[in-house]
Amino acid sequence: MILTDLHLRNFRNYDDLQVEFSPGINVMIGENAQGKTNLLESIYVLALTKSHRTANDKELIKWQGSDAFISGRVKKTNGTVPLELLFNSKGKKAKVNHLEQAKLSQYIGQLNVILFAPEDLSLVKGAPAMRRRFMDMEFGQMSNKYLYNSGQYRTILKQRNQYLKQLQQRKQTDRIFLQVLSDQLAAYGAEIMVARVNFLQQLEGWAQVIHDEISQGKEKLTFHYASQLTVADDATVESVYEQLLALLTKNESREIELGSTLYGPQRDDLKFLVNDNNVQTYGSQGQQRTTALSVKLAEIDLMKAQTGEYPLLLLDDVLSELDDERQTHLLTAIQDKVQTFLTTTSLSGVARQLIKEPKIFEIEQGI
Ligand code: ATP
Ligand code: MG
Repeated sequence: MILTDLHLRNFRNYDDLQVEFSPGINVMIGENAQGKTNLLESIYVLALTKSHRTANDKELIKWQGSDAFISGRVKKTNGTVPLELLFNSKGKKAKVNHLEQAKLSQYIGQLNVILFAPEDLSLVKGAPAMRRRFMDMEFGQMSNKYLYNSGQYRTILKQRNQYLKQLQQRKQTDRIFLQVLSDQLAAYGAEIMVARVNFLQQLEGWAQVIHDEISQGKEKLTFHYASQLTVADDATVESVYEQLLALLTKNESREIELGSTLYGPQRDDLKFLVNDNNVQTYGSQGQQRTTALSVKLAEIDLMKAQTGEYPLLLLDDVLSELDDERQTHLLTAIQDKVQTFLTTTSLSGVARQLIKEPKIFEIEQGI
């Protein structure tokens, strides 16, 4: 898919911006704090209705402004879809084809993006929450069902944790209601865990090929979904549901004591292994970077396989973090295939040589 144009009004430091993009590589060049990341962020928000940098939508509205507006047209094989998003003090409104969508989950998925920022290089090394977020964001874009199940799960988990605290403080005594919540939690939790394992299996296949190429056949990358439950590659939702419910039931008293849910997808992690060793603990910095890059590039292929369209690739300041070899690999992998938006303070070295006919946008103070 291609984002042909973008219109911003009162978004971050942009007053009013109207741009047309190249279907190839778009380069945003400018000094620090001019609005390069803001522009990339607006594309991310147009796709996912929320930012990768903040959970507070109000930050997206230009200071002193009352609302922020983003619109753009997405060209796909079966036609062009106009998307519009409005943020104001009451919340947000999302339109597809000029029709307001009652649920954001109906909107998300129209535009698919993959963002690669310097902090993604620590996908391997960072905290488990980062890898869970990675799975949720990526799989949610590809599957409405995953998005729906995660939303339901989050709501019930919050409710269940509150209820556990009330039981702990003896403000409640009814354990039957806890069992009702456990049952619902296990049902949605099982859906999420099985979907994660399925998506990961596919992602692993693509990532292995890429990692093999970058490491010139020396390293084999594998994924492992780390959970307190046993979730085999071919596990059924039913079997995981039963396992999770059994764990929740067995550990009720301990959970009440701690006032918190101890089992489920919110506790799981994703491990990356290179030649069977955990990259997080044993990998060199180079291996960790190659792994992160392979995973990110594999997402492009997975999304294409799932949706039939290549996603957009947003590269925020990432070239400067990669050595020449990895830059070359990245740029050759996306060239002529994926519409790309990259930010940089200057285009130099390998990138300058390799990027064919970039469309360059010079950005200064939101203009
Ligand atoms: P760098 O090269 O340092 O990453 P950048 O060009 O990517 O810089 P951005 O993050 O896009 O910079 O822009 C940051 C600027 O946007 C900040 O200087 C900040 O003052 C401004 N800014 C952020 N949010 C808002 C907002 N809601 N309203 C107005 N200006 C904002
Ligand atoms: Mg920036």
